[in-house]
Amino acid sequence: MSSEYQNYIDGRFVAHRGDTIEVHNPATFELIARVPDAGADVVDEAVAAARRAQPAWEKLPAIQRAGYLRKISAKLRENVEMLATIIAREQGKVMPLARVEVNFTADYIDYTAEWARRLDGEVLTSDRVGEHIFLLRKPLGVAAGILPWNFPFFLIARKMAPALITGNTVVIKPSEETPLNAFAFTQLLAETDLPPGVFNLVCGSGASVGAALTAHKGVNLITFTGSVGTGIRIMQAAAPNLTRVNLELGGKAPAIVLNDADLDLAANALVASRVINTGQVCNCVERVYVQRGIAEALTEKLVQRMAATRFGDPLADETLDMGPLVNQAGLAKVEQLVDSARAAGAEVLTGGKRADLARGYHYLPTVVAGCTSDMAIMRDEIFGPVLPLQIVDDLDEAIARANDSDYGLTSSIFTRDINAAMKAVRELQFGETYINREHFEAMQGFHAGRKKSGIGGADGHHGLLEFTETHVVYLQTS
Ligand code: NDP
Repeated sequence: MSSEYQNYIDGRFVAHRGDTIEVHNPATFELIARVPDAGADVVDEAVAAARRAQPAWEKLPAIQRAGYLRKISAKLRENVEMLATIIAREQGKVMPLARVEVNFTADYIDYTAEWARRLDGEVLTSDRVGEHIFLLRKPLGVAAGILPWNFPFFLIARKMAPALITGNTVVIKPSEETPLNAFAFTQLLAETDLPPGVFNLVCGSGASVGAALTAHKGVNLITFTGSVGTGIRIMQAAAPNLTRVNLELGGKAPAIVLNDADLDLAANALVASRVINTGQVCNCVERVYVQRGIAEALTEKLVQRMAATRFGDPLADETLDMGPLVNQAGLAKVEQLVDSARAAGAEVLTGGKRADLARGYHYLPTVVAGCTSDMAIMRDEIFGPVLPLQIVDDLDEAIARANDSDYGLTSSIFTRDINAAMKAVRELQFGETYINREHFEAMQGFHAGRKKSGIGGADGHHGLLEFTETHVVYLQTS
C-alpha cells in the first residue's frame, strides 16, 4: 500500500511503495494516517546522503549553520496551531501543552543556534619550550536520532539542533505511534534552503529502521530517547561497530515531602508533575515518600486535586487537564500496576480504574496510599496519571528508599529546611533534583540519568559536547 507521507532523503521527499504503519488518534481510536514502514535499504540511502553532506556542512562557519537553524525555528513559529493540532491528534496531548511543545521546540533551536560563537576548544599548558597544545572539538559525523512518542516534536529538536550546530548531519527516526508531527516538521524544514542531506527523515518500525540505523557502520552517534529495554538492545546493536551511544531512558522519580513542607505548594507541584502529558513523562513524579507527621494532610490535598483533574478528547475540549494514554499497551500497564498494588494491600483513594468513556485510552487520575517498597508500583515506571504514596519516618529513610531503585533520572524534595534540602542533594543518586518545585528541566541544564536511566545526556553546554569528539594538536615551534 502506498502512503501520502514520504521519507525525506538528500533534500527530497521519496515515494514509498512498501509496507505501511497505521496511525490512530488515542482519544477516538480513529485511523488518521498510513505512514511508510521503511526497510534497511532506505536507511542505507539516508545514511549515505548524510555522509555525503557532512564534510561541507562541517566546513561552514558555525554562525552560518546557526542561520539555517533559525530559519527552521521561524517556520515552526509561523505554524504553531497546525503543528499543535497534529501533536494533539496523534499523541493525545492537550492543546495548550501541544502549543507549549511547539514554541519550546522553536526556542530550543534558537537557544542551540546561540552557541555558534561559543563552540570553543582549549589551549593546554605544555611541558616543552616552544610547544603549543590545542584541544579541538570536532563533529562526530552522522548522528542517528531515534525518538519516543511522548514529546515527539521537541525530541526532534533535541537531537537535530545540537547535532547540526556542531557540524554533524542527521537521520531521524520518529516513533511509529507519532510520526505525523515529524513529517510536518520536515515539510517546513524542506521549505528552507538547508543543504540536501543535512537532515534526513526515515519512518518505520524499531525492528526495521531502528535496528538498521543502530547497526549501521556509517552512523557515528546513536542518540536515543525511549525505554530501558530498547536502550539495551541499541547498545547491543551498536557494539560490533563500537558506535557511540547517548541514551535518555526511563525514570522512577521519587518526591520526598517532609513535615515542614508548604503542603499546598507540594500538592500542586506533585499533581502538576503527574498530570502533565497524562503522566507520560520520563522525569515526572512516579513515587512519593511522605513524612508521617503530614501524611494525612498531604494525602487529602492530593486526592482532592487528582479527583478534580479533567480529562477527555483534547480536540473536543481545550480546557481539559489531560488527554488519553497513548495506546492500549500503556493503559494495560497502568491498570496492572494499580491492580497489583491493591492486591498487595495498598489502598486506592481515588481513581484506580479505566475511565467510563466510550472511546479513548483513558485511566482515572489515581492516588494509591499505603504502598511499600516491595510493590511493583514503587519500582516500575508507571507512565500514567497515578500517584503512589509511601509513609516514611525521617529524611534518612526517605533518601534510602529513593535511592533503592534501578533508575536515577530525576528526584525532588519539599521542605523549608535548607539543611535537609542540601543533605538530600548530597545523598540522592539522581541526575536532577528539584527543590520545592515541580519536575521539569530547563534547556540550559543537563538532562542526564544515572544507573539504568541512561548514558550521557542532553541540553546546555554539556549536551552539545555529546555531539563532538576531541582532537589534540601538538605544535612545536622553534
Ligand atoms: P520505546 O523504547 O518503545 O521506543 C522508542 C523508539 O525506539 C521508537 O522510535 C521505537 O520504534 C524505537 N525502537 C524500538 N525498538 C528498537 C530497536 N530494536 N532498535 C532501535 N530502535 C528501536 O520507548 P517509547 O516510545 O515507548 O517511549 C517511552 C519511554 O521513553 C519511557 O520509558 C520514558 O521514560 C522514556 N523517555 C525518556 C526520556 C528521557 O529524557 N530520559 C524522555 C522521554 C521518554 P517504534 O516506535 O517503531 O517502536
